[in-house]
Amino acid sequence: MDLYSGHINRLIDELAALPGIGGKSAQRLAFYIINMPKDRVERLTKSISNARENVHYCKKCCTLTDDEICPICANEKRDHKTIMVVENTRDLAAYEKTGKYEGIYHVLHGTISPMLGVGPGDIKLAELVKRISEENTEEVIIATGSSLEGETTAMYISKLIKPTGIKVTRIASGIPVGGDLEYIDEVTLLRALEGRTEL
Ligand code: ZN
Repeated sequence: MDLYSGHINRLIDELAALPGIGGKSAQRLAFYIINMPKDRVERLTKSISNARENVHYCKKCCTLTDDEICPICANEKRDHKTIMVVENTRDLAAYEKTGKYEGIYHVLHGTISPMLGVGPGDIKLAELVKRISEENTEEVIIATGSSLEGETTAMYISKLIKPTGIKVTRIASGIPVGGDLEYIDEVTLLRALEGRTEL
């Protein structure tokens, strides 16, 4: 027997399918939404569809942005000769929050994971290689996490780029194994960046 109406059940199912939201949270959110004023619900649904519709990859660094070229790539004051390679846009945001990194980024949108069947062709690696062959990059800082996948990806990128003669560095492993960059405090991030070593 269904405890709730079909519409409520569908909403709960959709919410429960989101990452990090279990059945109980989905129920709580569903009832919260149902009790929200209608205009707030409208704002929420609009912001979801607008984000989905209008956010895309920056043509240079592949981060998520509203513009063709993201504000970081478009900023001429940044050091365009140093590219930091991160796993995702949230990691980029974590480094940006420190306010101390002046280079630009490249966002992979994932890591190589043979276990999950994610190969080099499934992340934004070809875009990185193409970029550095066209721009006068002097250093590529690999800032993927220290999980097995993060390390595998770092090794792969290093092998790919080193033959070009461009300096390849890896952030220091002050970051806990499997640690999500996003949750690491700014001091630790900066220390990892400053303590980077050449591969
Ligand atoms: Zn960009």
